[in-house]
Amino acid sequence: MVLQKVLLAASRRPGLRRVVTGNPATRRVVDRFVAGEALTDALPAVRALAADGIEVTLDHLGEDITTRAEAEHSRDAYLAALEGLAGLGLGDRAEVSVKLSAFGQALPDGHDVALELVRPVVEAATAIGTTVTLDMEDHRTIDSTLAALAELRKEHPGTGAVLQAMLFRTEDDAKALAVTGSRVRLVKGAYNEPPTVAHQKKKDVDTAYARCLEILMAGPGYPMVGSHDPAMVARAHELAAQHSRAADSWEVQMLYGIRPDEQRRLATAGTRVRAYVPYGVDWYAYFMRRLAERPANVGFFLRSLLTK
Ligand code: FAD
Repeated sequence: MVLQKVLLAASRRPGLRRVVTGNPATRRVVDRFVAGEALTDALPAVRALAADGIEVTLDHLGEDITTRAEAEHSRDAYLAALEGLAGLGLGDRAEVSVKLSAFGQALPDGHDVALELVRPVVEAATAIGTTVTLDMEDHRTIDSTLAALAELRKEHPGTGAVLQAMLFRTEDDAKALAVTGSRVRLVKGAYNEPPTVAHQKKKDVDTAYARCLEILMAGPGYPMVGSHDPAMVARAHELAAQHSRAADSWEVQMLYGIRPDEQRRLATAGTRVRAYVPYGVDWYAYFMRRLAERPANVGFFLRSLLTK
């Protein structure tokens, strides 16, 4: 847990990025989790996953931007991504995930700026028959992100949201979002949150995840089970059977490069599986959060820093 907190704190210090950039061995470790720096790298990854029966949510990396110009750049990158996805003809089997902090959420009037800039992305997604999911960031952004979700769902009801089981508030949020047409990805939570708002012990996070999963799977919405944890995925299957859910009324989501064999196994066995595929030059914070989740990867990564 201490190492996890250190890595999560480092994820918010972009200066450290220089240490891991430019070393080919380090790059190979990053490449395990990131599908490349350009859209032209990511689209072949999407196609390869689709060939294995795995659906995709594409993420243009970037967060915590500080100028409107950067926020407009995020919007443009997503419009280009949707154009690329339209060319693959996968419909809603390939959607996009966005972080509102990349759309200016932390700027003055940030809520309005983010909503203004993300709206054309949601419209472009609807136009090609797919959806957008709003990733969830640290707990201070949640009210703004859920308010943006409610606004966007008025015209684009398929817009999805993410709930983080580690937060005390999430059970109530899950109840509020367990409604017809609502797409909710349930995750454990990847941010360094204080004990005033979040469970600190893995056991408590897991129990909270299971409780929220029950709420979402029992409701009329579309649950997206965002976890690599075999216990949570098994519980989701049990709950799907218990509530007589059709196979296309929920899905499992995992991150690109994590348990890929399990992703293929589940898809072959008839579970709807979607991989979250990140690409772009701003991979540093995303990558550090993945290291924090799995101390085994840290040794692997540190060894790569010593190799050229
Ligand atoms: P854990 O208890 O962390 O892991 C269970 C098992 O999974 C481990 O024992 C291991 O076998 C495997 N595993 C987990 N992580 C790794 C890894 N990095 N490398 C190798 N094996 C691993 N968090 C947010 O806060 N906001 C979001 O919007 C968000 N979106 C997400 C989208 C998707 C599709 C997924 C899968 C996760 C997302 N997360 C998000 C991250 C999430 O909050 C967790 O931090 C992350 O999924 C790890 O939790 P876990 O449920 O996989 O279980």
